[in-house]
Amino acid sequence: MPPNRYQQQEHCPSYYAATANDLSRYPMLNGARKVDVCVVGAGFSGIATALTLAERGYKVAVVEANRVGWGASGRNGGQLIGGISGESTLIAHHGEQVADAVWAMRWRGHDIIHERVSKYDIQCDLKSGYMDVAIKPRHMRAMEQEYAELQRRKFPHPCRLVEKHQMSEVLGTDAYIGGLINHYNGHLHPLNLCKGEAAAAVSLGAEIFEQSPVLDIQHGSTPRVITATGHVDADAVVLAGNAYHALERGKLSGLVFPAGSFIVATEPLDEDFARQINPLDLAVCDPNYVLDYFRLSADRRLLFGGRCNYSGREPRDITASIVPRMLKILPQLKGKRIDYAWGGNIGIVINRVPAMGRISSNVFYTQGYSGHGVNFTHVAGEIMADAVGGTLEQLDLFEKVRHHRFPLGQALGSQLVALGMLYYRLRDWL
Ligand SMILES: Cc1cc2nc3c(=O)[nH]c(=O)nc-3n(C[C@H](O)[C@H](O)[C@H](O)COP(=O)(O)OP(=O)(O)OC[C@H]3O[C@@H](n4cnc5c(N)ncnc54)[C@H](O)[C@@H]3O)c2cc1C
Repeated sequence: MPPNRYQQQEHCPSYYAATANDLSRYPMLNGARKVDVCVVGAGFSGIATALTLAERGYKVAVVEANRVGWGASGRNGGQLIGGISGESTLIAHHGEQVADAVWAMRWRGHDIIHERVSKYDIQCDLKSGYMDVAIKPRHMRAMEQEYAELQRRKFPHPCRLVEKHQMSEVLGTDAYIGGLINHYNGHLHPLNLCKGEAAAAVSLGAEIFEQSPVLDIQHGSTPRVITATGHVDADAVVLAGNAYHALERGKLSGLVFPAGSFIVATEPLDEDFARQINPLDLAVCDPNYVLDYFRLSADRRLLFGGRCNYSGREPRDITASIVPRMLKILPQLKGKRIDYAWGGNIGIVINRVPAMGRISSNVFYTQGYSGHGVNFTHVAGEIMADAVGGTLEQLDLFEKVRHHRFPLGQALGSQLVALGMLYYRLRDWL
């Protein structure tokens, strides 16, 4: 048996873990199992795949190293934003004939999440309303183009461009020169969504095993997923470990790099104060490559996130690193207590197109949403379930895009990505 490279962990001390409304735990994998599909990783990608498959009648097992939603899915900014990272590269690769399909995919994750929240009664504070904010005139021009495209395509949900002189009506900051509000985008409690979807999959017969790091996959007509205490034989395997997994180094090494992103949550703000900061209760995100994002939680804490590093390590003091950025945008928060500070790893892909494909005819993978995964992981779940069933059209769209790798291994690769990001940070400043 290969050595256990993983140390099984509980949830990080985030606001989400402290307010999780389902404290169920699932057992470790012990002994042998046989299922139709084994999914590795219980973040949004893995759970959305498992739930879609369970809805279609497959017998599914999910094997998770830590806990359901332990990774990026249970720690993120909770911003539900349409679009796919690397969308323009995807269209440039295939040509304009895929533009309509890509546009539909942009919003498909929202449809799935809304359907599931309502069908399975998932309490995850799902709210409508999101704003892309502009710092520079070129950002505003890009948003005007996006707005024109929404109109051209008769986008059925309310959207509005906000000019500089209207900004004080929508946000209590003068850091921005305008923006675009989209009410199909929004925000949610990601850990409660992930756990709710996991419970829905279990209600349909799926099995989940936690604290069970997968150590190896034996390929063959019935691939075997191996942990320290058991194994699952399956007709197909879906790898959904994203920035956190170290499996299949031969085929997947160098495709995705972990980039740290960090969030603080203030004490609950009183209603009037919260209304001054964010009267429309919007999720807000700036357009920089190294971006800042914020929103209010259901109990009116300001959740502010940003800063990236490429070492995969946490800064010594997340609060000290994030709060100055928060106060630059929202100085009225000075003196407010910080109750939670945490971070997680985003799976970054060099060309930004999600890395999805096959390692062999019956082992699939999906990973690398470059910080844009709440929505798209749910689309990925559907693409994986289709692929398992033999429908490969959408998987092909992604698998055929050429990805760049760093052949020199992750340590040096991360340094190169860091250099690349320095370039993008310089571009943000210009
Ligand atoms: C701080 C932060 C803020 C973000 N904010 C946003 C946002 O506001 N909006 C947005 O759209 N996106 C955001 N993202 C990105 C988004 O969270 C991710 O794209 C998405 O959650 C990825 O989901 P996933 O299931 O692929 O990966 P993860 O959620 O990371 O799940 C992978 C799982 O696989 C498990 N695993 C790994 N290896 C093994 C193994 N060998 N055996 C068993 N299990 C294994 C891990 O334990 C983990 O639970 C953010 C990410 C971070 C880190």
